[in-house]
Amino acid sequence: MYWNPAIERLSAKELEEIQERRLKALVNTVYDYSPFYRKKFKEAGLHPSDIKSLNDLPKLPFTKKQDLRDTYPFGMFTVPLSQVVRFHASSGTTGKPTVVGYTANDIRNWVESLCRALVSCGVSSDDIMQIAYGYGLFTGGLGFHYAAERLGSTVIPISAGNTARQVELMRDLGTTVIACTPSYMLYLSEYALEMGVDIANDTKLRAGIFGAEPWSEETRRRIEEKTGITAYDVYGTSELSGPLFTECTERNGIHIWADMFLIEIVDPETGEQVGEGEKGELVVTTLTKEALPLIRWRTGDITYMESDKCGCGRTHPRIMRILGRADDMLIVRGVNVFPSQIEHVLLQIPEVGEHYMIILDRREDGLDEMTIQVELSDRVSIDTTSDILNLEKKIAEKLKSVLNVWAKVEVVNPGTLQRFEGKAKRVIDKRKI
Ligand SMILES: [Zn+2]
Repeated sequence: MYWNPAIERLSAKELEEIQERRLKALVNTVYDYSPFYRKKFKEAGLHPSDIKSLNDLPKLPFTKKQDLRDTYPFGMFTVPLSQVVRFHASSGTTGKPTVVGYTANDIRNWVESLCRALVSCGVSSDDIMQIAYGYGLFTGGLGFHYAAERLGSTVIPISAGNTARQVELMRDLGTTVIACTPSYMLYLSEYALEMGVDIANDTKLRAGIFGAEPWSEETRRRIEEKTGITAYDVYGTSELSGPLFTECTERNGIHIWADMFLIEIVDPETGEQVGEGEKGELVVTTLTKEALPLIRWRTGDITYMESDKCGCGRTHPRIMRILGRADDMLIVRGVNVFPSQIEHVLLQIPEVGEHYMIILDRREDGLDEMTIQVELSDRVSIDTTSDILNLEKKIAEKLKSVLNVWAKVEVVNPGTLQRFEGKAKRVIDKRKI
């Protein structure tokens, strides 16, 4: 099943032709209508006529989050506000907030992109979709809402939080698909059990679309084991519109619609493009956005790309699961550590539960100290102190072998660590306080 079969199955050559035509139009538009980009082009000694083919892409300057902050709120818009029909905004927890704007066409293209994605993971007009992403300035709720309605699915616009109500409505209204963060799905399934509702047996839920935070294959396996559903990954960022792409039913990467988005993977240090299959930072050029087009946007997300033909028949390139954020990277005793690597190790250990915290501190002697608190799984029973100590030692050794740095491990009882209703904040860095 396809939403837009003509576009989703174009040949690589046809896609390249569309990309090249749109890229040339884009550089002309931003040069003419965006003082920000005109200045950037001039600084780089570049004129739109220098961009003759896709091979010229590396000549173009990167655009970074800081550029959006520096031009807050509308400095990078290329249309007058009279053509803007909606704003979304980031919360600005790590600096000034960033504002994104959409024309009516931008909203239509956003919906088109997510409709293609939802159909690719099997969502249809027969589904009842519970949208448990936040509604409002965050793009998750409204993004899913409009696409699911456009498909003809029945939407439950419950937004994030209010977990008892989530479980009640899921059971009573017959939710078949849920969209939320993966950490919230784990919390929801535990909460449901406490209410006497076993999602696998007492509800019609069959699939979940999870994102807005990095997660691992092990988390996928645990969600599926606990709830009996099929879990799909979703990708998108507010700067690129919001949630835009999901895995198809092959679940071997996320198709990026190449007629709308031109992707590259670059080395985060040097900015040079890396080869297919090599890890690096995802860089996206928007080919159809009108209000806030972005040239070579540094997403900060670490992944790799595959462009061989997918079993689903779609020809658009795929990115693999996001391995971490370039800016989530922790530096512990000079070693680069991604929280996703820690999760990956922890969830492969059967005695360990889903919830964990990473605490960084600086010792009196000035050295960094990393403590990992992790819950014991509720499926195992370990009673003696020496067994706990052995488990802590085993976890610490596995972590050391992957991270190349020692962590202090504390195993705690199930249900004692903090739960998160939205994005999980599992890192406490006391070195910054
Ligand atoms: Zn596919």
